[in-house]
Amino acid sequence: MKTTEARISHLHAGGVIDLHFDLPLSLFLSRGRRNVIATDFLPEFETGDMSLLGVALYVEDEYLGEQALRVALDQVALLKSEVENTPRLVLCRTFAEIEKAREADRIALLLTMEGAEPLGDDLNLLSIFHELGLRAISLTHARENAAAAGGIFAASGSPARGLTTFGRELVRECQRLGIMLDLAHINPSGFAEICALTTGPLIVSHSNARRYYDMERNISDEQIELIGARGGVIGINAILVSPKQEEATLDRYVDHIEHVAGLIGIDGVGIGFDFCEFLWRQVPDAEREALQAKLTTPHFLPDLGNHSHARNLTRKLIERGFSDEQIEKILRGNWVRVLRQIL
Ligand SMILES: [Zn+2]
Repeated sequence: MKTTEARISHLHAGGVIDLHFDLPLSLFLSRGRRNVIATDFLPEFETGDMSLLGVALYVEDEYLGEQALRVALDQVALLKSEVENTPRLVLCRTFAEIEKAREADRIALLLTMEGAEPLGDDLNLLSIFHELGLRAISLTHARENAAAAGGIFAASGSPARGLTTFGRELVRECQRLGIMLDLAHINPSGFAEICALTTGPLIVSHSNARRYYDMERNISDEQIELIGARGGVIGINAILVSPKQEEATLDRYVDHIEHVAGLIGIDGVGIGFDFCEFLWRQVPDAEREALQAKLTTPHFLPDLGNHSHARNLTRKLIERGFSDEQIEKILRGNWVRVLRQIL
């Protein structure tokens, strides 16, 4: 009989995948410093046995408009330069490259985009970002843009409109290029429209079940079932686990996993931690209040707050009775299946 710690190590030997991390934004906020990944993040990735991270381009409100493209390109450039100077990391564009990274025990990064604002309304720019390595896109954050409208952080009241003509063209172009469509953040009508317009697996890189946190930024049972029917995966988010601080616990995180698995099976659940407490703490007080008013107050989990805590999740899954086969699917297997299919 293996001890729990040995069982965790065994389960982590194949690596852990998190499909949503704000690394490019973090590099942008730290521009001027060097070796930011190696200093601030790599030790945590290594402790958590991370093998692949989806790293999301995200443009803050103050840079929307003409500057959005510039800021997104700056983020790609910073990421590229940091990765080149960090031998443990590699930016991957294909599934074969992800497999090669695994064999070489390197941590794979996959470039994603959260909110299509850097593209403006220019469809041609999507293929340029694809060349830079973009492999997943969510059309919106909580905002409205030229493509679609985001879901708000409340139980109702998101813009009613679905995709624009540009948004629909963008979705078709993603399917043609092999860019994963990520339904995190989009409003309910946009979500339904993307499902209707597309074939193959759809993902929700980082979200939670409305069952436990009822707001339109999260996903309803009906939406979870739509993703399941398409063979897609939902990455469970660690910062919107509950509207109540006292219920924002690792057990509640696992409740979200159980809820999604209960509706669509274990094959539909993955991880999209969205760790951002370090970013939240960098924000000046006045700005943080504005963000809280516009979005919500995140309740960070003390024992699942950064990548070094990944073992705590695995320990909790064991404690809650998940089998090794189920845990491996949650930690990486389900994301691997979809990545193999689309990339
Ligand atoms: Zn997000």
